[in-house]
Amino acid sequence: MRTEGKLICTICPLGCQLSWKKKGTGFEIEGNKCPRGKSFGLTELTNPQRILTTTVKVEGGVHPLLPVRSTGAIPKEQLSSAMRELGRITVKAPVDFGQVVLANWNGVDFIATRNLPKASSRD
Ligand code: SF4
Repeated sequence: MRTEGKLICTICPLGCQLSWKKKGTGFEIEGNKCPRGKSFGLTELTNPQRILTTTVKVEGGVHPLLPVRSTGAIPKEQLSSAMRELGRITVKAPVDFGQVVLANWNGVDFIATRNLPKASSRD
């Protein structure tokens, strides 16, 4: 198991390079230009999380897939489980930007990240 390494802070566009070292039962973090970087580094080392962006199927829309994202970060070990759940979903067009397509999945919602109109019918 590694006892030191480097991370890039992704909280803001500055992208500080963080150096970390295991110290006792915790970690020492350096290179952060603000306190949020230390918090990011500790989370990344102990419970890494990600905003999940993906697509879900759409019925009757101008496109067959709708881009969605989680409204909060999800622990990395839960990402594949979330993908499986989203793979079971089919939403009906029209869909509005920000519309919830999956509510309260382990404490986060998944929302549409674009409008998706109905396909025009050719009667
Ligand atoms: S440590 Fe602070 S300043 Fe540096 S990238 Fe992270 S949030 Fe931005």
